[in-house]
Amino acid sequence: MTAGVAGADAPPAPPSRREPLFRRMTVVGVGLIGGSLGLAARRAGLVEHVLGVSRSRQNRETALRRGLVDEATEDLAGALAETDLAVLATPVAAIVGMLPEVARRIPPAALVTDVGSVKAPIAAAADAALPDGRFVGGHPIAGKEQSGPEVADPELFAGAPCILTPTARTRREAVERIAALWAGVGGAVVRLEAAWHDDLFASVSHLPHVAAFALMDAVLSMEQDGERIRFAGGGLRDFTRIAGSDPVMWRDIFLMNRAMVLKSLAEYRGALDRLERAIREGRGEELAALLAQARKAREESGHRS
Ligand code: NAP
Repeated sequence: MTAGVAGADAPPAPPSRREPLFRRMTVVGVGLIGGSLGLAARRAGLVEHVLGVSRSRQNRETALRRGLVDEATEDLAGALAETDLAVLATPVAAIVGMLPEVARRIPPAALVTDVGSVKAPIAAAADAALPDGRFVGGHPIAGKEQSGPEVADPELFAGAPCILTPTARTRREAVERIAALWAGVGGAVVRLEAAWHDDLFASVSHLPHVAAFALMDAVLSMEQDGERIRFAGGGLRDFTRIAGSDPVMWRDIFLMNRAMVLKSLAEYRGALDRLERAIREGRGEELAALLAQARKAREESGHRS
């Protein structure tokens, strides 16, 4: 285990005078989200000690240098043995995979939460591994297309909705403490049922990512000698910004939310078909009406830029 000094480029502020919510917090996966939470919680005095678990020496060193954690290790079992809160912040398939070990290793009073972008499969796995209700599913609606501890940002959660997805088993006191953690780093806590969360996010987050990846693939398959990309302007750049996101993270999200992603894709395909038909048949009035309807929906959603 490597003990860290206070981060060189992002020193945590002195802990606030109130009691910390958790004495020892273990963050498994000190990347963008886990690292941001570690740093934000340290700065706000919400935790006394953050232990980061990472498989990569380079990420452990970055996490220590940037003050995201107090200590870093690759030993998951050891890191869980004395924790008061385990935050699972790896890609979603790894979260599901590690839950049985987390349940075996954590002390009897410790809580467990996660930050994964798909909630129903994690909730089901957690209910099975931790049937005493100490797991609280979570998903901060904050992020960017970059990943890793180098881009962790303590302000990431300021004003962001932080969704909690307790099940019928989840202890009320556990939900309240995890809600206080997210509120303490600036988040606006919202509770949703896990399956409803996955349905919603399939359409407003997962579908746009499928579409962005697919659009880049389509342009690539028409590419010749780099000529198309050379002349690509803001339209392609804006539309495909999120295709710069981490492929492993998104592979896991698409596969773990498969049914809802496929439902959203069917809707999207229907919308593409309507546009294609109007274009092929030269039905200008219908085409303009479809485009106007989409523009209105976008304006009303508040995304005007
Ligand atoms: P990230 O920056 O890539 O960090 C994930 C970390 O998990 C990595 O630093 C990696 O650390 C570790 N990891 C990866 N695969 C692993 C495995 N198989 N077993 C153990 N550790 C593994 O990703 P992120 O953006 O923070 O995303 C983390 C979670 O937050 C995901 O579940 C994602 O769905 C969710 N989320 C992401 C966003 C977003 O916009 N990015 C927003 C909300 C929620 P080492 O390689 O050093 O071990």
